[in-house]
Amino acid sequence: MAAGSAIQIPSRLPLLLTHEGVLLPGSTMRTSVDSPRNMQLVRSRLLKGTSLRSTIIGVIPNTSDPTSDCDDLPSLHRIGTAALAVQVVGSNWPKPHYTLLVTGLCRFQILQLLKEKPYPVAEVEQLDRLEQFTNQDKSEEELGELSEQFYKYAVQILDAVRLEERFKMTIPLLVRQIEGLKLLQKTRKPKQDDDKRVVAIRPNRRINHVPSTTEDEEEEEDHDDVVILEKKIRTSSMSEQALKVCLKEIKRLKKMPQSMPEYALTRNYLELMVELPWNKSTKDRLEIRAARILLDNDHYAMEKLKKRVLEYLAVRQLKNNLKGPILCFVGPPGVGKTSVGRSIAKTLGREFHRIALGGVCDQSDIRGHRRTYVGSMPGRIINGLKTVGVNNPVFLLDEVDKLGKSLQGDPAAALLEVLDPEQNHSFTDHYLNVAFDLSQVLFIATANTTATIPPALLDRMEIIQVPGYTQEEKIEIAHRHLIPKQLEQHGLTPQQIQIPQVTTLDIITRYTREAGVRSLDRKLGAICRAVAVKVAEGQHKETKPDRAEVGEGEDCKEHVTEDAKPESISDTADLALPPEMPILIDFHALKDILGPPMYEMEVSERLSQPGVAIGLAWTPLGGEIMFVEASRMDGEGQLTLTGQLGDVMKESAHLAISWLRSNAKRYQLTNASGSFDLLDNTDIHLHFPAGAVTKDGPSAGVTIVTCLASLFSGRLVCSDVAMTGEITLRGLVLPVGGIKDKVLAAHRAGLKRIIIPRRNEKDLEEIAVNVRQDLTFVMASCLDEVLNAAFDGGFAVKPRVEHLNSKL
Ligand code: ADP
Repeated sequence: MAAGSAIQIPSRLPLLLTHEGVLLPGSTMRTSVDSPRNMQLVRSRLLKGTSLRSTIIGVIPNTSDPTSDCDDLPSLHRIGTAALAVQVVGSNWPKPHYTLLVTGLCRFQILQLLKEKPYPVAEVEQLDRLEQFTNQDKSEEELGELSEQFYKYAVQILDAVRLEERFKMTIPLLVRQIEGLKLLQKTRKPKQDDDKRVVAIRPNRRINHVPSTTEDEEEEEDHDDVVILEKKIRTSSMSEQALKVCLKEIKRLKKMPQSMPEYALTRNYLELMVELPWNKSTKDRLEIRAARILLDNDHYAMEKLKKRVLEYLAVRQLKNNLKGPILCFVGPPGVGKTSVGRSIAKTLGREFHRIALGGVCDQSDIRGHRRTYVGSMPGRIINGLKTVGVNNPVFLLDEVDKLGKSLQGDPAAALLEVLDPEQNHSFTDHYLNVAFDLSQVLFIATANTTATIPPALLDRMEIIQVPGYTQEEKIEIAHRHLIPKQLEQHGLTPQQIQIPQVTTLDIITRYTREAGVRSLDRKLGAICRAVAVKVAEGQHKETKPDRAEVGEGEDCKEHVTEDAKPESISDTADLALPPEMPILIDFHALKDILGPPMYEMEVSERLSQPGVAIGLAWTPLGGEIMFVEASRMDGEGQLTLTGQLGDVMKESAHLAISWLRSNAKRYQLTNASGSFDLLDNTDIHLHFPAGAVTKDGPSAGVTIVTCLASLFSGRLVCSDVAMTGEITLRGLVLPVGGIKDKVLAAHRAGLKRIIIPRRNEKDLEEIAVNVRQDLTFVMASCLDEVLNAAFDGGFAVKPRVEHLNSKL
């Protein structure tokens, strides 16, 4: 061995007996310490002392059985390696142990064992001089089975103190090792695992590296790639500013060693810059008449929305620029907002890209991370442009009402910049760090409600309300659009499956309760899946030879007449219907596939006792019916409200009670003890299901009054009536919003009469005639009118006694 430093190891060394390998001078080894002897050594020699001296230990390979845990010291190997304990890590799991990182310094020979307990200490003689140690032994880990052999031989080698002897022993071993490695490389296919390993060893190599390529070839290849990249940059149509930055970066890249982490970062950056559609755009082909046809073909109903979209497109065609408000479609889920956005792109012949903003609360989501961060990347806008590959796509900013806010900046502010025609021609993503022109992008936004859209953003948008659909509209949408699409997706034809309109109505009323058609679409999908299985099974049976042996009686099933009772899908399972007979989805089949109906009309059931009334609520998901429940019990006049109510709703409840208390005599309402003071010794509990949804707003006022009037009068509210309206302390009924959605919800639920504030009468015009025809509307301007309409036979006011007296 070459002469190294002349450091002397101590003449007395504590001995660490290790099973895990042979530590050679110059190598580093991690060893686990869990035997009592070794634990003691670590505690008293390594954890207590601070001097260098105290961190030098003797490492002896323990050749005895590692599992034997006897107290006696095994016979020690004569030669060991003095080592520097570099690191001690302790852990209590699964049992107390230390992990020791040791670096071999030089070998020693044991002259005499000085003590055995609690850990062995020996007088030693240094055998070779200290050398600079390197960290080459890592390959040992990679060698798997060879390491076992290596261990065996290493103990021999350790004993070879003379240099010549050592060379003689190691050279044949090394040759064998190299041969072994070569063989391994040849036999292994370039599997993913191998690629990973290559990447792990040289993190900056490309992943699709071919294992047999030598390093030199690879470097050359990389160099070629950089040259190609430079060429691409020079020939790309990027802006001048971008070109300047890219050329500067490529200059840096050429000088950078590939092993630097920044090399990969810079390269990724440059590749993105080249890929971006700086000047690439699709040619608009806008023909208003064709656009109208396309919109009509793709979407049933939604006339208002389609009309507004066509106006917008016409203005664009005439003005030939995009400056103007951003269209924002606001409505419940599944009413076709995204789908209209897609149609707009189609009419213009543009690419379409949807950017989901729900839950985005970091402005770097929009504007990207600065390149100084590890793992930095561009924002969603630039990413979207890269995906579509042109600079004039239609971007649908989905769910702008669900943008969050956090410490990482306000994404709405970043979005404002994106949408502002005065600024967006030079939008600077933090990652790109150069301006990109977004002025050709057509932005469309969608939201469920305007209430949570940041005001500054709302200001830039033109809101177009997309209301929910009536049952009839849903049936039409299902039969014109959803069913044909589902059949196509499942490889079915109308000759194989038949869904009559009554079944669609059943799905709409008994299996879904929504303003849009999303669940309806999903249920239709489930039906198609089930039918696809049956059809495939049928076809399978068709091909079987024994199918030909079907008896005559069976055969006549092929001639089922139109009015014969159609078989339900469950019955058809083993019938092997002839392929030309469509599987008819009737209610039995529906139950079979979708399970029992989820929304059987429970209205009359729920209204079977006093203290329940049906209100109408507006939510971002559309209108909903809401059962308000009240109960009373002995108490001290407390009002308990449950169901996650907002402040305004709580106030409505207080107003309702106050009004009823002040009118109790007039209506002959008494509490359990017969007192007109309704809260005397009485507690009231009001509950608004579903408890998990936060509710607010004043429009439940009339419902709470009705519900309490029912509770204190002991009379049932009519089971076919729903109501909405704000109340005042004096008993007036004030107008509320969302009438159309609320009426649709009541209609969906099969209710017949709706009490609305008189001042909302004009809103009824928006409602489709067929829905209006099914319903009776009661216009109320005061609570007396509401109560009269809500109870069968009216809710009589007792004539005032003094009034009668004066008449007498
Ligand atoms: P939203 O974006 O409003 O949540 P989607 O656009 O995703 O809703 O619509 C859900 C599904 O319903 C889509 O398959 C869409 O094509 C269909 N759909 C909704 N409304 C209509 C309609 N009026 N005509 C035809 N299909 C519709």
